[in-house]
Amino acid sequence: MSISVIGANKRYGDFAALDDVSIDIPEGSLTSLLGPSGSGKSTLLRAIAGLDRLDSGTVRINGLDVSGASPQQRDIGFVFQHYAAFKHLTVRDNIAFGLKIRKRPKHEIKAKVDELLDIVGLTVFQKRYPAQLSGGQRQRMALARALAVDPKVLLLDEPFGALDAKVREDLRKWLRQLHDEVHVTTVLVTHDQQEALDVSDRIAVLNKGRIEQVGKPDDLYDRPDNVFVASFLGSVS
Ligand code: ADP
Ligand code: MG
Repeated sequence: MSISVIGANKRYGDFAALDDVSIDIPEGSLTSLLGPSGSGKSTLLRAIAGLDRLDSGTVRINGLDVSGASPQQRDIGFVFQHYAAFKHLTVRDNIAFGLKIRKRPKHEIKAKVDELLDIVGLTVFQKRYPAQLSGGQRQRMALARALAVDPKVLLLDEPFGALDAKVREDLRKWLRQLHDEVHVTTVLVTHDQQEALDVSDRIAVLNKGRIEQVGKPDDLYDRPDNVFVASFLGSVS
């Protein structure tokens, strides 16, 4: 499903968290929202998810105006930096949770969870509890749980931000492979330039609630005229 945000505005008091933001996110792409802390990345993602209302502007999913729709109606999978797993449920049951709530047939749940455990490489850990997993394994479980209900759109807000550099790098590669397998339209929020460059088909650079530039990873370096993008990219190793 494609996503379009048209003329999005969101203010907190006098402060514009989103200042007339428009962006088209192509179906099946992995698009990163890249920018420094406070640039409006999470606000934009939450608006796409329907977790926050915009002051004005429109969100379309596959051309359909979803501005008044709840997150459930938008059919969106969401993964945050600090993932809240159900501590008392096993890995398997955490992944199955959304399917059980939707009262899918048992054989269907089993098949889907088996498939996802395999995809995220947690089959051997399926009987463990979240506390018995590493941080990286927990985020893989979170992704499997988000994907279990076949969302139209997958939204990730700094999903690897709390992890060690090496684990982050591994998960980045893994996310790219996962995306190539499931092809779900994905939006990744990150302040990590290397992460955005490594995983994305497209990168939107945000600054102070505005989109400075959108393009393929290679395009980002071809715009010496854009002072902010040059300085931001230059400032991150
Ligand atoms: P990012 O995810 O890029 O770090 P956010 O979208 O979270 O940035 O926030 C953008 C700006 O909006 C920040 O300056 C932040 O302080 C402000 N902001 C976000 N949410 C709220 C809120 N609930 N109340 C007041 N200000 C907020
Ligand atoms: Mg944020």
